[in-house]
Amino acid sequence: MRLIIMGPPGAGKGTQAKFIAEHFDIPAISTGDIFRANVSEGTELGVEAKRFMDAGEYVPDEVTNLMVRNRIAEPDAANGFLLDGYPRTLAQVEELDDMLSAAGHALDAVLCLTVDKDEVVTRLIQRAQVEGRADDTEDVVRHRQDVYAEQTAPLIEVYRQRGICHEIDGMGEVAEVTRRLLDALDAVPES
Ligand code: AMP
Repeated sequence: MRLIIMGPPGAGKGTQAKFIAEHFDIPAISTGDIFRANVSEGTELGVEAKRFMDAGEYVPDEVTNLMVRNRIAEPDAANGFLLDGYPRTLAQVEELDDMLSAAGHALDAVLCLTVDKDEVVTRLIQRAQVEGRADDTEDVVRHRQDVYAEQTAPLIEVYRQRGICHEIDGMGEVAEVTRRLLDALDAVPES
């Protein structure tokens, strides 16, 4: 299975990605997690990414695309993967299409979590307190929602037109949302 999970910041993508990936025995690849790991290790990539992340902006496409290209070429992703937080721009959609078609692969499904915007902002502010994330102050949280609406929400339409977008209600208990996602994927033939 080659899957994407999308949704606004705070929709619960990361939590759900882990369950879905485990179910299909594929790696959940979170660009946000890879960036954060690089920031904490103080790598060159981390230093470059941090200033964008702290401001709630997207890391430039060239940097992000190369990172994903390298990650999905790793052996554990040979039979599939679940991308969480990528693609986020139209340029990233095109780049991912190139990466997949060069390898003779295609996306099986795009899972789009829909949530209530106010609920999302509340979740993010709570998460900031628990995790101490520098990109989750209230101003930055609101800015990230705006960046998502402007740059990433239009991607849903792209995948909808391809007929591979599954819109799933992301509100409610974690286990219930997981069940909805797995039900949607039940109907997807594996390529
Ligand atoms: P996340 O944990 O997915 O919310 O990502 C945290 C931050 O990492 C984002 O606010 C961006 O600054 C950066 N980031 C993660 N994924 C991407 C991406 N696909 N393109 C650009 N920036 C990204």
